[in-house]
Amino acid sequence: MANLRTMLRWLRGRESAITGLVGRLVRIESSSYDREGVNRLVDALAVEWRKRGARVERIRPARAAERGDVLRCEWRPAKVAAGGQILVLGHTDTVYERGTLERMPFRVRGGRAYGPGTLDMKAGLAIALAAVDAMRATGHAPRRRIVFLWTPDEEIGSEAARARIEREARRSAAVLVLEPGSGPRGRLKTARKGVGEFTVEVRGRAAHAGVNPQAGVNAVHELAMQIARVMRFGDARRGITVNADVIEGGTRTNVIAERARARVDVRVARAGDIARVTARFGGLRPILPGARVRVSGGIDRPPMERRVAEGLFAKAQRLGRELGMRIEESSTGGGSDGNFTAALGVPTLDGLGAVGAGAHTAGEFIRTRSLVERAALLAALLHRL
Ligand SMILES: [Zn+2]
Repeated sequence: MANLRTMLRWLRGRESAITGLVGRLVRIESSSYDREGVNRLVDALAVEWRKRGARVERIRPARAAERGDVLRCEWRPAKVAAGGQILVLGHTDTVYERGTLERMPFRVRGGRAYGPGTLDMKAGLAIALAAVDAMRATGHAPRRRIVFLWTPDEEIGSEAARARIEREARRSAAVLVLEPGSGPRGRLKTARKGVGEFTVEVRGRAAHAGVNPQAGVNAVHELAMQIARVMRFGDARRGITVNADVIEGGTRTNVIAERARARVDVRVARAGDIARVTARFGGLRPILPGARVRVSGGIDRPPMERRVAEGLFAKAQRLGRELGMRIEESSTGGGSDGNFTAALGVPTLDGLGAVGAGAHTAGEFIRTRSLVERAALLAALLHRL
């Protein structure tokens, strides 16, 4: 029992060092669209992992080659008890473009650390390194080979990394995702909705709005009616949400609009609803005579259903009790790379990263104490899984 707590105690003495590491990572700006920035962060992380005896591999993505590299760090100390591997997922990219750091510098105050990407998720990357440090320093070996996979484009859909994530997941006994925990207590994430985007494009016919309006077919009117239709595809009780969040169309007020389109965010809680919702979008037909409607897109991140996380969550709770920490769970409408691994049926537990608030905003921060607690929890999982 006291065993795991030695790691927690060791980590407590390292809080400011881990916070310093987060600062170093935050200061290397790495927007998803900034290949050079992401690769500089990958360089720095590769150095850290080599120092810890990991086998480091950089993979240039085959798809979306304009993205940064995927970093795969395999840690397998001499005495590993069980076969197979545990996959730990994180991402090196952030939603902040280069230059953000100037107006949003990394700073530590009152137990919090602020800066672009602190919470989502430079802290998660530092927590992984700290967990390995604690295990090495206190003689807690992992039970299996551990693969840390850091991807370069999670914030924009993971096109570059998805195939690699799925390949690693298929040979893993469990997947641990270092996305931030939810809320002020940092609840783990045991369910995530599936996420997709549909585009509804309408083609009408232009005409002078005063001289010959009867000759026109108004694409904006048609689109408005189509939006009213797709809104009804939502079903709060089943966890389906449909939101047209971007629309464009028309040219001038005296010209009947020839074109209009809407981009629609769609989320589903159950995998079984993907086909149903997709079919409803595919079934959209024009309402105004002479209008044409074209639908594209789909749900590309399948939901992470709770049953896939259940067992791992129960283990995390037990380990939490040994560490003297209360571990809670939550579900979210947001997607992560954990959606892909859970959809393959591989046990996946998410939200193991830092605790804080304001992800993707100017006020983003982490609680520095959570770096210690989360590193201890991750180390405990890697030791026992
Ligand atoms: Zn993230």
